[in-house]
Amino acid sequence: MQSLGNDSELAVSKDRKYLWHNITPYSEKNPPMIAASASGSWITDIQGNRFLDGMSGLWCVNVGYGRKELAEAAYNQLLTLPYFPLTQSHLPAIALAEKLNEWLGDEYVIFFSNSGSEANEAAFKMARQYQQQIGQHYRHKFIARYRGYHGSSLGALSATGQAQRKYKYEPLAGGFLHVAPPDSYRRPVGMTVEEFNLQCAQSIEDMIIWEGVETVAAVIMEPVITGGGVIVPHQVYLDRVQEICRKHGVLLIMDEVICGFGRSGRKFGHHNFNVKPDIVTMAKGLTSAYLPLSATAVRKDIYEAFKDNSDDYGHFRHVNTFGGNPASCALALRNLEIIEQEKLVERAELLGKRLNTAFTELLDHKLVGDVRSFGLVTGIELVEDKVSKKPVDLSIVKGIIAECKSKGLIIGKNGDTVAGFNNVLTFAPPLSSTDEDVEFIIDTFKSVLSGGW
Ligand code: PLP
Repeated sequence: MQSLGNDSELAVSKDRKYLWHNITPYSEKNPPMIAASASGSWITDIQGNRFLDGMSGLWCVNVGYGRKELAEAAYNQLLTLPYFPLTQSHLPAIALAEKLNEWLGDEYVIFFSNSGSEANEAAFKMARQYQQQIGQHYRHKFIARYRGYHGSSLGALSATGQAQRKYKYEPLAGGFLHVAPPDSYRRPVGMTVEEFNLQCAQSIEDMIIWEGVETVAAVIMEPVITGGGVIVPHQVYLDRVQEICRKHGVLLIMDEVICGFGRSGRKFGHHNFNVKPDIVTMAKGLTSAYLPLSATAVRKDIYEAFKDNSDDYGHFRHVNTFGGNPASCALALRNLEIIEQEKLVERAELLGKRLNTAFTELLDHKLVGDVRSFGLVTGIELVEDKVSKKPVDLSIVKGIIAECKSKGLIIGKNGDTVAGFNNVLTFAPPLSSTDEDVEFIIDTFKSVLSGGW
């Protein structure tokens, strides 16, 4: 293999020739940003340009870049025991499972995989099998929300409520149904946020009843819809969803892939709402994305239902070669220690408030329809008209993002293209960002927006 060194032209031409990028239109691959190194909240590309990563990669580098301790944890574990399958066990997995219980604040049994999608796939299979094991043989359906994203594999994509991601891959897995999310910004005129949230929660119960209570296995949701445009529910929504699930024997799966590990200003997103999910899925911030690892945490009594092996089909027939790799687990443990030692959960809350206060001042700008935050996640919804709330044209969203990037700031664009709501700019910098980093985000974004948009 020829070394590319710092020859950026050669790297670009080889990238174009050999590399297939994730979800990126071919036109946007031109020219690709090729990262070379990173430290703290900053990335340096192969030409030496520096960018503040206002999205922590894909909402995942929670402790920031360049953590030597994480590299050492993985390195030491690779030398000691690089691999052993979790058909049996190893010490880093046991220690991490115990630590996750502490973080969750409740008794869960942990199943490891590699990615958020896989954590959700495991959750779906567990939910269906659990219902079978307790004699609920018809319960196979899942209810999710439109605009929610749960992953790219066929089951997780089926749970996803963003049509444009699915078009060319259908038919997907059967049994996944969707209801409207509690998008309070677009609630009907004359309705309070609370009334609207209760109505949205009610649509879940209505669907359970229309579909046949005895056919529904679980509801899956993020505490706050992140990638679908930062849709923050009112407390009454999650209270009511939990009540509905319990009333009808439907499991509640909480997708904490983005909201977990301090991002929400609490250890997990659902802690903000005091709900107790039956299953919690997590990935990204678990290792701050330094190595692949995900987990599906299952309430103890659900796990107990898998102990009856009288017909040899009682156990969970699911295997994942790489899931719970010892080096990933050792690194994850160190990552959680860093979050604790540096009080990054509290810091996320503090920095999130700073971003929210600064961006709320932008509500006077003609394009800014709404500003929504949840911990260190902020979404700015851009509209053409504040009364009709018509989303701005995608070219405006892309133009603002490109201008931010030209000034050294990477921000995100989220929502749902088909529904026309791909108009939410997102900010989710590392939880370890310095005060100066956050001021840079604020100043840069404000100067871009007030500079002619
Ligand atoms: N769930 C949520 C809420 C996500 O945002 C994502 C990825 O962005 C996933 C699941 C899928 O995770 P992965 O890309 O690791 O498969």
